[in-house]
Amino acid sequence: MINQARICAEFARQAAIESPSYQEKLMAEYLKERFSALGASLQEDRAGSQIGSQSNNLIFRLAGTKVGAPLMLSVHMDTVGPTAGLVPVLEDGVFRSQGDTILGADDKSGIAEIIEALEVIREEQIPHVPLEIVVTVCEEVGMLGAKHLDFSLLEARRGLALDTTGAEHAIHRAPAAKRIQVEITGKAAHAGVAPENGISAIVIGAKAIAAMHLGRIDAETTANIGRLKAGQAVNIIPQHLSLEGEVRSHNPEKLTKHVAQIVACLEREVNKADIMVEGQKIEASLKVKVFDDYPAMHVPLHADILQLVQQAALTAQVPLQVKAAGGGSDANIFNAHGIETVIIGTGMNKVHSVEEEVKVADLVKIARLLVEVIRAA
Ligand SMILES: [Zn+2]
Repeated sequence: MINQARICAEFARQAAIESPSYQEKLMAEYLKERFSALGASLQEDRAGSQIGSQSNNLIFRLAGTKVGAPLMLSVHMDTVGPTAGLVPVLEDGVFRSQGDTILGADDKSGIAEIIEALEVIREEQIPHVPLEIVVTVCEEVGMLGAKHLDFSLLEARRGLALDTTGAEHAIHRAPAAKRIQVEITGKAAHAGVAPENGISAIVIGAKAIAAMHLGRIDAETTANIGRLKAGQAVNIIPQHLSLEGEVRSHNPEKLTKHVAQIVACLEREVNKADIMVEGQKIEASLKVKVFDDYPAMHVPLHADILQLVQQAALTAQVPLQVKAAGGGSDANIFNAHGIETVIIGTGMNKVHSVEEEVKVADLVKIARLLVEVIRAA
């Protein structure tokens, strides 16, 4: 049923089109042509100009050939780097790069699987409900495309996102994340001549970080300080420190609680750092910005879309394990907009590295699963 040579050629063509985030123009042009050849119509939103990308999000539609609720399939067209000079190599049934770039199986394996499934649907004239294929831009830089997607263009209230590693699981839960941006201001002074007149922003930050609960906090919560910037010279007491971190949790109360713990550590150390210089009190100060990075997703185990995928997996004889994930993706955004979306693995592995790979057998397997999902939807 699945044409292995065709899906391999499709994947290789796409992988060879470099499309790092923000520079998706050539990939978008290719996809417009490719989906048009499959009989799909195109709608674009205006996300590109809003986020500074070369392309908008693309929505391809295939009219239903049977009555039923529309189904969304989602993928992203951008990749991480490095991509310069990317050449996909197929050896012993596995696609890899030449070793000095990523491969881009994240997420082009998913796009190739959708295209192959649509080829089969057409060849075998399999009746299907209306299909909405959403291809986003700038997923890899904070789901910017999905966050700016014009959701009024979508009718589907259920969907699949093809965008995770492996080819044996469906993800129904993912955490929410909050970002924390911090500016600590102390007081600059000559470190050798008058250190007692200075307040080191680095020392305040270091003490605060040492008291924070970071790393894995529990099974559903993690926290990290990932960026730190400070200092001008070794003989100057540093006046400014900026740091940036995140907390992720499947549980909204824990998310709030652990952000508060981090902020409390900062406040405590900043408040303790005052000094007196010539009878005058000099105080350190703190600015904290907390913002929502992405919302949690939680598709209940009894949800229709999950039942549909599991049933299709049985038919296609693809063992599929339902589980939770630790990261956010476009699917978090779709779920928050009322499109109940489950993520499935595309076969991509070792992603975001030059060792990224995808097995041909997995491309075929997931394309087959998609055919059965579309048939049963
Ligand atoms: Zn991805």
